[in-house]
Amino acid sequence: MSVELIHAPRLSERTTLRLGGPALAEAVLRSEAALDQLAVMLPGLGGHPLALGAGSNLLATEGPLPLVLVRPANDAAPVVRQDAEGALLTVGAGFGLPRLLGLCQRLGLAGLEGLTGIPGRVGGAVAMNAGSYGVETGALVARVRLWTPTQGLVWRTAAECAFGYRHFDPRLGAGFHLVWEVEFRLKADAPEAIRARMDAAYAKKKATQPVTAKSAGCVFKNPPAETGAQSAGLLLDQAGLRGKTMGGMAFSCLHANFLVNLGSGTPAQALELLDLGRSAVRARFGVELETEVVVLK
Ligand SMILES: Cc1cc2nc3c(=O)[nH]c(=O)nc-3n(C[C@H](O)[C@H](O)[C@H](O)COP(=O)(O)OP(=O)(O)OC[C@H]3O[C@@H](n4cnc5c(N)ncnc54)[C@H](O)[C@@H]3O)c2cc1C
Repeated sequence: MSVELIHAPRLSERTTLRLGGPALAEAVLRSEAALDQLAVMLPGLGGHPLALGAGSNLLATEGPLPLVLVRPANDAAPVVRQDAEGALLTVGAGFGLPRLLGLCQRLGLAGLEGLTGIPGRVGGAVAMNAGSYGVETGALVARVRLWTPTQGLVWRTAAECAFGYRHFDPRLGAGFHLVWEVEFRLKADAPEAIRARMDAAYAKKKATQPVTAKSAGCVFKNPPAETGAQSAGLLLDQAGLRGKTMGGMAFSCLHANFLVNLGSGTPAQALELLDLGRSAVRARFGVELETEVVVLK
């Protein structure tokens, strides 16, 4: 299947924050053959390639953005095989994370349920090492299949990659890489027990986070544990940012580290609020907050 090429795709239609102007192009990839084609096409498209998942961790400016969005749409049913240690599940990067969690629950495959409520795709979850309530995506990865324009497709074991806090480096050298397929190591458990853990995680999130708002999740990373600083949400809260609005953008009243689009927000207002939050926390606590949300300019 060949590459589907979309011209001037708007980031506001591809991100959960619903912000952002047009990129140069979007390449939608449904097959490995499309990757070969993309390697030939990329130099002619201009700009820089950017891997795109569900856009749930992106804050895009008005642009025009000098980017070619590369979106894996390989979302065929995952393949599961059993071995002595449990189960290995192989899934395409384009598969939705919530859908995967639902499938694992029905199949009685445990491990991922702490990630309940994270609205990304499998590729984005690996690229961000998404995590919550003590579960990190990278800890469940056995192998990742990556694509680069010069090396093509290569498998890397988790041990060959570096996973950190909201950080993933496949150690393939500088330049563009795309997560194409992921093999997760999971364990058997009763579907009802997995469902109970998913329900508990979601209930906790719903009580403390604006889960249905237009947001990109937490916008700042928590400061490193060794600094002894509190979480970014608490720091922002105590610096007076909870509920703070700027035009159509706001720090959520429910969770100060969630930047939400109230409907008419703009990227400029979003960036202004980020600056305000960063400088208020610096002034009050002497802590430098680092953005978790990926800002596209
Ligand atoms: C309501 C809400 C709740 C959230 N809760 C959490 C949470 O609890 N924990 C958490 O960690 N995050 C959370 N997030 C943030 C976000 O969902 C995660 O970071 C998620 O893993 C991003 O996946 P995505 O597919 O949307 O990636 P995108 O937002 O599309 O991309 C994010 C980054 O990953 C890169 N990327 C995406 N796909 C690939 C790929 N195939 N190959 C290489 N790089 C790729 C992009 O280039 C970009 O740099 C939340 C977001 C929302 C909106």
